[in-house]
Amino acid sequence: MTSPVLGSQDTCSKCGASLSATLRHCPTCQTDAGAPNVRHCRTEGNLKALKARFDDAQSRASAKGCLKEFGDLEATIKNKSSVVVSMTAGMAKNLFENPNVLYTNYEQLVGANARKPAGPDNDRHRCAVGGLLFGSYANLIRYGALSLTKEGLPTYGDVHCRLRSVTIDKRTSFLETNSYRFVSDHKIVAGVKLPAGYMACWEYRYHLVLAKLADSLLVEQTESDWQEILIQSDGKDRKNDSFVEAHIYEGFDRNAIESLVTATGKKLSKSEKLDLDLAMNEFKRLGGKTK
Ligand SMILES: [Zn+2]
Repeated sequence: MTSPVLGSQDTCSKCGASLSATLRHCPTCQTDAGAPNVRHCRTEGNLKALKARFDDAQSRASAKGCLKEFGDLEATIKNKSSVVVSMTAGMAKNLFENPNVLYTNYEQLVGANARKPAGPDNDRHRCAVGGLLFGSYANLIRYGALSLTKEGLPTYGDVHCRLRSVTIDKRTSFLETNSYRFVSDHKIVAGVKLPAGYMACWEYRYHLVLAKLADSLLVEQTESDWQEILIQSDGKDRKNDSFVEAHIYEGFDRNAIESLVTATGKKLSKSEKLDLDLAMNEFKRLGGKTK
């Protein structure tokens, strides 16, 4: 069963007008219908398919004697997971130096001429993948990784920023893997609907994680084992990363960040070190935790 995304319609709960699934506000009465990426995850087709994958994962875990671990991981994801956005030291410095700065994504930075595009093939690829998943609001999506700790993906930057759940839970959805791999594995091209059951809103993120990781469960695993299988990265090549990708609708400022830690094993230039120190000092001054 596939779930429609692009070009489909919702109905405004206030005035009854039809509302594109890619719009946040009703064009007729301007009622906030909620972030479109989250609304997509809440469609009946997606919820049903995701629950079926979760139930199936539970049966497989049970068959191999890991039902306790399955339940423990479920509770851990519900209670301890949030989103970590990993960014360059320069971006962290900008965020912490100025309370008015919002974290921006690649498309916005390129659009505003604030950074050079990646190589032409890379640039086309990034924009195409965003368009296939989100359509016209792709440039409003910020990317992160679901994590049980303060650590995220070292391949995306030198600084890991864990976000306060309360600042993102209503506008964040999750994809089972990174969007490049997802689009390629599921052979999603223009005109093909997205497969249902691979995306989740905040409260069902545990469905997605268990569907993905049930086969990696082993008896007596602990939380640190689960973090290791939840986020896998060699720190060098994004192609080798494995994680649950978070999609945050629109940006956030420094107040959304609950912890700031540096990625391990990185060689920073002098100016990157300076940027990092500035960000860390400002974060500490504001009362944040860097350890
Ligand atoms: Zn309306």
